[in-house]
Amino acid sequence: MSTVKVLASGSSGNGYLIETDNYCLIIEAGVRLSYIKKELNYDMSKICGCIITHEHKDHSRYINEYLKSGIRCCLSKGTKEVLNINSPYLQEIYSGSIFKVGEYKILPFDTKHDCKEPVGYLINHRDFGNLMFATDTYYLPNKFRNLNNIMIECNYSKELLDLDNIPINRKKRILNSHMSIDTCVNTLKANNLRDVRGIMLIHLSNDHSNAEGFKKRIEKETGIPVIIAEKDVVMRL
Ligand SMILES: [Zn+2]
Ligand SMILES: [Zn+2]
Repeated sequence: MSTVKVLASGSSGNGYLIETDNYCLIIEAGVRLSYIKKELNYDMSKICGCIITHEHKDHSRYINEYLKSGIRCCLSKGTKEVLNINSPYLQEIYSGSIFKVGEYKILPFDTKHDCKEPVGYLINHRDFGNLMFATDTYYLPNKFRNLNNIMIECNYSKELLDLDNIPINRKKRILNSHMSIDTCVNTLKANNLRDVRGIMLIHLSNDHSNAEGFKKRIEKETGIPVIIAEKDVVMRL
């Protein structure tokens, strides 16, 4: 059975484990390695690598721990430059070029966020088909075919954001870096969802989201079961 498990999701840290029979792929480096070790019953042999979307600390804070343990960490050239790190276990990846980690074939694609060179990932494995992972992006320029599962940011609703009396610059930053529920709906609908079995909404804002409302709306608009990413939640792929 293939699964994705949420270790953390949101602006205080991000970490997800994709597990198939033989391999475990880590998405993001925003949780301590000790936490991952515990999750895997201290059997690190399944870990084939870690893919990171961008340099913000909630996605990259613990990359040095991973590298020191010999975990291959994949990231864009721009992300690597800003993090200013070097290790034989670092691998630069390029938007539009497929690379392999263990049994996973991975295609990075451009995302739209306030950082140097952010990417999302289309992850293919023979057991679960195609999983799209897109976070920290105020929209997605690309469309995808043959998706089977989707993990997508659903950060805020315009209504809840407008209700909050926050400084205009903070509001502007959110609008130009994170995905709203409306954009999430439109993005999902722009893709062919015929073969999609499950959608996980990730990176919800603590202050401007409504998990239950978001879940209901996306389920209604797509007809596909929706899971909200919270610590320890597991989605079958
Ligand atoms: Zn983030
Ligand atoms: Zn970010």
